[in-house]
Amino acid sequence: MKQGFNSPMRYQTNKFRISMDKPDLIIRSRRVVTPETIGAASVHIRDGVITAIGEWGEVSAETTLVDAGDAVIMPGLVDAHVHVNEPGRTEWEGFRTATRAAAAGGVTTLVDMPLNSIPPTTTLEGFKTKLAAAQEKCWIDVAFWGGVVPNNTPELKPLLDAGVRGFKCFLVHSGVDEFPNVNETNLLEAMPELAKLDSVLLVHAEVPEPIENAAEQLKDSNPQNYQTFLKSRPRASENEAVALMIRLCRETGARVHIVHHSSADALPLLKSARAEGLPITVETCPHYLTFAAEEIPDGATHFKCCPPVRERENREQLWAALADGVIDMVVSDHSPCTPALKLAETGNFLEAWGGIAALQFSLPVMWTQLQARGFGLCELTRWMSAAPAKLAGLDIRKGRLASGFDADIVIWHPEKEFKVVPEIIQFRHKLTPYTGMNLRGVVEATYVRGIKVYENGQFADKAAGALLTK
Ligand SMILES: [Zn+2]
Repeated sequence: MKQGFNSPMRYQTNKFRISMDKPDLIIRSRRVVTPETIGAASVHIRDGVITAIGEWGEVSAETTLVDAGDAVIMPGLVDAHVHVNEPGRTEWEGFRTATRAAAAGGVTTLVDMPLNSIPPTTTLEGFKTKLAAAQEKCWIDVAFWGGVVPNNTPELKPLLDAGVRGFKCFLVHSGVDEFPNVNETNLLEAMPELAKLDSVLLVHAEVPEPIENAAEQLKDSNPQNYQTFLKSRPRASENEAVALMIRLCRETGARVHIVHHSSADALPLLKSARAEGLPITVETCPHYLTFAAEEIPDGATHFKCCPPVRERENREQLWAALADGVIDMVVSDHSPCTPALKLAETGNFLEAWGGIAALQFSLPVMWTQLQARGFGLCELTRWMSAAPAKLAGLDIRKGRLASGFDADIVIWHPEKEFKVVPEIIQFRHKLTPYTGMNLRGVVEATYVRGIKVYENGQFADKAAGALLTK
């Protein structure tokens, strides 16, 4: 009998063929990092999705093969804290430059912060404007945080329905007037709504009072001195903010995530909150884990961020908290501005814009540190891929090399070194505190959903990144 297109047998044959279909791309090396092992393996990819992790030799002549030799093949980094600033402050940074810098650094997904862009992502309209601005400018996948500001609770559900991954708020002035900070009263309105929506609140955890008191005492201090700046953002400000958020988490049931944590004094509070079973997570950033206040030269305002890089002893406690699991993840907090706003000429720490630009260098900065401290590739992928993917609710498709996950892959050389010089920097302004440093870990190529977006200093012609709103 001749089989028609719709005959049951033909249908079954097709179905069988699809499930057994061959990959269209295989990437392999002697060091593939999966959740279970590190070793020789081949990553089988079809239509941008990993279909299997096979034996190293499990390749066929018909399938395109990328043999990465003994380079590391790892899930691309998920950077859950990036200020892209477009639209509105695109002269600070934009989707094109930020996502190309990310691709060059082995980042395959970034989550954009709701502020410094104008409008901020605090209303549905603002989000739509940002999505329109990002179209066809992204070399990697991009997701978005919304913002909690006073009185925008009615916007939270529409923003979530439109695809934001959660919400960020400030407890102290954010640095830009269009994104006002919240107080406890505002949070007692917003957090029950977030709990109901099962969303997460990201908190810039510094409260104003200790900062205001410090400013009073520092009136006659030299603003070019890093110690003056350090004293102007005391640990107490972070400690009190963390205590407040733990209490509000307990009272409202809303999930809380502390962004760019710096004060080691608050770590015991966080540890006991976790032990209590409260839904609180914590991130820190490469700069808090790398630099020390004692070593920052006077006038070097490119080191300024809030909260500040603190003392060496503080840094060591942050490392211990990472190892201990009190800090869950490491993200860049890439927050650039125009060079003029950094006030390099006057070196005035108190007046300069606070924010460190380093999105492209998170992987080598952290790898250089991790190796020196006895950590390895497992910690690197856990802290910089899996945990941030989970925070952003992307962990069903991002953050690990496993069947069913997006083929977001970085191929890199852990033994190779390079020097940070302005010529290699892909983000818009070349001012970064890492300039001149020798770092270990050279990215060879970056794949997003199976598409090669970066290789050895060259980018794909087309912006293949998706805007992750589902
Ligand atoms: Zn930030």
